[in-house]
Amino acid sequence: MAKKKSVDPLMDKIVSLCKRRGFVFQSSEIYGGLGSCWDYGPLGVELKNNIKRSWWEAMTHRRDDIEGVDAAILMHPDVWVASGHVEGFTDPLVDCKQCNHRFRADDLNADKCPDCGGELTMPRMFNLMFKTFMGPVEDESSVVYMRPETAQGIYVNFHNVLQPSRQKLPFGIAQIGKAFRNEITPGNFIFRTREFEQMEMQYFVRPDEDQKWFDYWKEQRWDWYLELGIKKEKLRWHEHGIDELAHYAKTAFDIEYEFSFGWKEIEGIHNRTDFDLSKHAEKSGKDMRYFDQEKNEKYLPYIIETSAGADRTTLVVLADAFHEEEVRGEQRTVLKFAPNIAPINAAVFPLVKKEGMPEVAEKIYHDLKKHYKVLYDDGGAVGRRYRRMDEAGTPYCITVDGQTLEDDTVTVRERDSMEQTRHKIAELVELIGERLK
Ligand SMILES: [Zn+2]
Repeated sequence: MAKKKSVDPLMDKIVSLCKRRGFVFQSSEIYGGLGSCWDYGPLGVELKNNIKRSWWEAMTHRRDDIEGVDAAILMHPDVWVASGHVEGFTDPLVDCKQCNHRFRADDLNADKCPDCGGELTMPRMFNLMFKTFMGPVEDESSVVYMRPETAQGIYVNFHNVLQPSRQKLPFGIAQIGKAFRNEITPGNFIFRTREFEQMEMQYFVRPDEDQKWFDYWKEQRWDWYLELGIKKEKLRWHEHGIDELAHYAKTAFDIEYEFSFGWKEIEGIHNRTDFDLSKHAEKSGKDMRYFDQEKNEKYLPYIIETSAGADRTTLVVLADAFHEEEVRGEQRTVLKFAPNIAPINAAVFPLVKKEGMPEVAEKIYHDLKKHYKVLYDDGGAVGRRYRRMDEAGTPYCITVDGQTLEDDTVTVRERDSMEQTRHKIAELVELIGERLK
């Protein structure tokens, strides 16, 4: 992969911190990496899991009107014919006749190659779905696709979920899962990748109540980012104009975040009308309508979709938490995560590796471990250990020192203020729990 000269020093710092501390690595790095594919390391997987858990709790556990599913990545190929993806999920692609570089035609301002000034080919349509074959024969009849969105796994299961859950309109189905798009121009670290994880919820409503629920979900989703601790001034709305609307959408709003590389979409809220259910009814021959007992009539519900990405949200959280500050003449890098999504909730240190301090610290570590994600570290000077935890975004560091051996108290250092306060060992479980709320 050709490396472009970077013009985004902040992203470079985040990428390098992510590698250094074990958040995110390039996929297949020992082989030179695979274009825009990334692996989550020990801290990264914790952070991403915490984000997914926060979404899942907000969207399912805390509500009575949303059910969860986990559909297969591979689906019947007719799903993608019905959804319009086989026909329409394409980008116009042009090649430079001179240097063979490839571009999205709609990314270009001129009709010459931006890299070498060479002549470009005519645009051709390129389908963004990854294709593979099911079974031992590789021919047209065995083609299946890696799903380009999780939404269709929800639509085709509408009645399967409706019946056992005994839900009534309005109600939703939520799903977290991988999706795949063969993007021509991926990039910006984990912002746009070809393999990614979506967090989507489809809310089924009476057609005449679509606007009401659209407005409701806009508000709910905006608030979730504030709950994650994202700075409000870094968020804004973008409404899709007529020319931006996807083929299935009546209205669409994006929540955008201001990254160092500009304002970018981090979540879409879409009114998909009855487009998907009517297409599936047509293609499958099955009745996808909902029987409304109150109205005593059958109709296709409208769908309000909220579509976010787990990887993209992870990048938002990393970028928003990243701080560099000078402390007593020294540079400090710190990830100021909201405590409840931090990969490590607390770290436990013996001040020195002697005088019985490690034994006391290990006991505290084992007690806290039953409740929280905790790390034990006795390597190197305590200042070094604090800095490692600052870079990991660990909100609390607990240190066992000489005084501990006399009165059973420890210091608790708070990551952002670096203030240290003394507390009884017996109160730690409750204290940390209180602060993680
Ligand atoms: Zn060129």
